[in-house]
Amino acid sequence: MKYDYLIVGAGLFGATFAHEARKQGKTCIVIDKRNHIAGNIYCAEEEGILIHRYGAHIFHTSDEKVWKYVNQFVTFNHFINSPVAVYKDELYNLPFNMNTFSKMWGIRTPAEAKEIIERQIRDLDIQEPKNLEEQALKLVGRDVYEKLIKGYTEKQWGRPCTELPAFIIKRLPLRFLYDNNYFSDRYQGIPIEGYNVLVEKLLCGTEVVLSTDYRDFHAANPDIAAKTVYTGMIDEYYDFCFGNLEYRSVRFEDEHLETDNYQGNAVVNYTESAVPYTRIIEHKHFAFGTQPTTIISKEYPSEWKPGVEPYYPINNERNNALYEKYKDKAAKEENVIFGGRLGTYKYYDMDKVIAAALIAAEKEFG
Ligand code: UDP
Repeated sequence: MKYDYLIVGAGLFGATFAHEARKQGKTCIVIDKRNHIAGNIYCAEEEGILIHRYGAHIFHTSDEKVWKYVNQFVTFNHFINSPVAVYKDELYNLPFNMNTFSKMWGIRTPAEAKEIIERQIRDLDIQEPKNLEEQALKLVGRDVYEKLIKGYTEKQWGRPCTELPAFIIKRLPLRFLYDNNYFSDRYQGIPIEGYNVLVEKLLCGTEVVLSTDYRDFHAANPDIAAKTVYTGMIDEYYDFCFGNLEYRSVRFEDEHLETDNYQGNAVVNYTESAVPYTRIIEHKHFAFGTQPTTIISKEYPSEWKPGVEPYYPINNERNNALYEKYKDKAAKEENVIFGGRLGTYKYYDMDKVIAAALIAAEKEFG
């Protein structure tokens, strides 16, 4: 065996694990089927602007340990995610907060906003929500649901809200403050050097082989490492033996525009169903860019099929039950560790991925 670990996938989980392994004097080889490292947090530089190639990534955490960990490698800017939502010719702040309610109903105080929402919920009189629509209506009332949730969610998941399970939206935070910060975490920002540098530094000193498919590599090098850390799709690892897990995918259409500021915000959501994309990202605003031109990406959700990138696990009952079968199989493996969004079929934020990789490393190295 040439290495202690073969790590499949050069994303955050694999790179964090590799860094921890190296600190323990272990040897790793990392392979990735793409021609670059950093998985879905990879950024490509165009016209001096860092493009979030696989969708917007805003780092946010309340986990002190993870925050200290990432700050060893990069410095975070003061970006705060404050998306705005466009519904027809109306524009609202997100998350649902006093700015949203004030604009929607012409009111000023939390008491007025609460009164309206509670009245709408009372009028609907929903007992046991049978689907996502009923669940959302019971939580936020009709106006917020119709204008800011229904269209966006149906585009995002490709199904009517009445056919989506209620548990996808268990909790929709309503904030009775004039506070447009989308996240409630203590720490937030974007690495000034970019996400690629974070992953490069994690992988520093580790051998990385790009544009390499696991199956081919494994067939050619069956005994290259004592253990495998696998961050690809768990159902694919097992040749889909119990059936396919479902994912949602996203397609991006970029436009280079001869203006220095197209939409005045990094993220603008389009919440009506008539607009085919869910949001427009203007990348320069993540970094307070002052370039003379701008690049925007329109985000189109789509059904996943083999050959396109899987983004979001669809954690409905069918898929969760199927994942449990794969998980049981995986638990019996002595020499394979599954991790990351695809390896554990979880809708993970970045900080949770790092935390999970640190736990996996601790379990391995004590
Ligand atoms: N959502 C919504 N309206 C919005 C933004 C989000 O109803 O304007 C709901 C929608 O159901 C979506 C979920 O919130 O699937 C999570 O969206 P978010 O943008 O927070 O997650 P991301 O896609 O960025 O991981």
